Amino acid sequence: MIHSLLIANRGEIACRIIRTAQRLGIRTVAVYSDADAEAPHVAMADEALRIGRAEAAESYLAGDKILAAAIQTGAEAIHPGYGFLSENADFAQRVIDAGLIWVGAPPAAIRAMGLKDAAKALMEEAGVPVTPGYLGEDQSAAVLAREAGRIGYPVLIKAVAGGGGKGMRRVDAAGDFAEALASCRREAQGAFGNDRVLIEKYIAAPRHIEVQVFGDSHGEVVHLFERDCSLQRRHQKVIEEAPAPGMDAATRAALCEAAVRAARAVDYVGAGTVEFIADGSGALDAGAIWFMEMNTRLQVEHPVTEAITGVDLVEWQLRVASGEPLPRRQDQLAIDGWAMEARLYAEDPASGFLPSTGTLDLVEFGEAPGGRIDTGVRQGLAVSPHYDPMIAKVIARGASRDEARERLSAMLSDTAVWPVRTNAAFLVRALHHPAFVQGRVDTGLIARDGAVMARRPQPTRETLEAGAASLVAASALTGFRLNAPARTSAWFRLDGDVREIGLSGGSEEPVDSVLIAERGQVWNLTRWRKDARPGAAAGSGAIRAPMPGKVIAVSVVAGERVERGQRLVTLEAMKMEHTLVAPFDGVVADLGAAAGQQVALEALLVTIVAHEDAAA
Ligand code: ADP
Repeated sequence: MIHSLLIANRGEIACRIIRTAQRLGIRTVAVYSDADAEAPHVAMADEALRIGRAEAAESYLAGDKILAAAIQTGAEAIHPGYGFLSENADFAQRVIDAGLIWVGAPPAAIRAMGLKDAAKALMEEAGVPVTPGYLGEDQSAAVLAREAGRIGYPVLIKAVAGGGGKGMRRVDAAGDFAEALASCRREAQGAFGNDRVLIEKYIAAPRHIEVQVFGDSHGEVVHLFERDCSLQRRHQKVIEEAPAPGMDAATRAALCEAAVRAARAVDYVGAGTVEFIADGSGALDAGAIWFMEMNTRLQVEHPVTEAITGVDLVEWQLRVASGEPLPRRQDQLAIDGWAMEARLYAEDPASGFLPSTGTLDLVEFGEAPGGRIDTGVRQGLAVSPHYDPMIAKVIARGASRDEARERLSAMLSDTAVWPVRTNAAFLVRALHHPAFVQGRVDTGLIARDGAVMARRPQPTRETLEAGAASLVAASALTGFRLNAPARTSAWFRLDGDVREIGLSGGSEEPVDSVLIAERGQVWNLTRWRKDARPGAAAGSGAIRAPMPGKVIAVSVVAGERVERGQRLVTLEAMKMEHTLVAPFDGVVADLGAAAGQQVALEALLVTIVAHEDAAA
């Protein structure tokens, strides 16, 4: 068994790997960037080494520095986690050439599965069913458009080097093809340095079902059943579960066998995931499930598989990398219960899911029997704009799907994070959506019904009154006057909103503020002088850059009337396109943004004023 391990990653996955390694008695080495000096993974590891500046290219993507760190600390092996260098075949090869153990897929398997078009061709040869589409060399816009027409709309344009839901565009009609292609290529070039695309038939009511596979260096490959990751937003997973709702034994056997075939075709070693797309318009049927791609690493959503199989997948990775055979045979693996995972993000659903960065003044997670929280943050630290804004993975297990779902909902409901915004309330609503409750989820559910889930919730009257009473009680300690008449209401400010709230007693002095939390949402409640102008508290019309990035499009002109929700500016940041929208009906009073411009965090891009203020 490996004696020492360097973890070339950060956040929750670094912490999760360190935990298993320490349980196995392996010495752990963390690496960190300037943004992460205080991060939990640094504190947890036996040893930690600074490798560079905050930008990923200077730190977690800097292969030279990571190799040097491993050699300097005498680490025997490197675990890449997911993202960053995990699917970089050249880096994997360099690790091996340096005489170290690579706790990841063999470089040749990473290469074979690295580009979506080559992988699909290889799978076709191995007898794994693949989605109908165009994989050709000719990348001219005219040929691609013609092929799209031949496949039949709707189609999906995919960057062959894409990943993480980036570099993908659904096109419904020929007239939209050229623009979608250009935008897809732009994103792919920026994110992956490769603008080649393939075209696929867009599958109706698609369900994303993937199979966990595991290979060892003795030629054995097993599967650990499927996960359903159909609840997605813009092709990114939101909630994952295992097993898949509606999967019968025969379909499962066919699917899992195809996944094992795919892994064998590339002599797979280690943890991998074979992703399939299923036509979800009817019952699941092995004849309508196609290979999409293979991820040659540990997946974000691996804990749901662990929860239903009782296997620690990181332990298996470390054992297999040490040359041991797989700890269990296929016939020793079975599904026990149901598990669900939600990805808790620092983002604001009510303003188009923009990432929300800053210091975490409050971080509290809910609990449930058998619940698990995988996190890499803690109270007092900041969510950095440099990395993926995931705060935690919240995982629940139950004997039945409903039990797992209710437990996950309870854990998220009791989660409170402030002042950074999160998607917790959105996740709670998603878990109670009738289609989700019934296990009838396709990847378009959030696009269709997500607006309701994303709306900023209002606290219930009980919660609001309890918060108001606690504020008044707090001020009563300092300002209580014996002869003061009992008050029946007072004015408060709830985030940006001023309102009168009923009270049962209290005093005159507005001295404090409290946070109130309910169903995953947190609000700031402050005493407000009744004669203050409520308008002064209205939400700001200043549209600022939520992250450093580049303006790709400006969709309004100065003086233009805009409606709430209307697109103002498109920003490319963190390798994705983000749309900034008008927070309320108004007029574009000031326009600071221009297409092509690089903007700093918090740069003022547009100012919207309400109609009445504009008229004044
Ligand atoms: P990535 O590598 O970026 O994760 P994938 O190829 O795995 O990209 O696809 C991501 C998601 O996009 C899938 O989970 C599915 O929701 C959707 N998708 C992919 N291919 C198709 C398709 N042919 N038809 C419909 N949806 C698709």
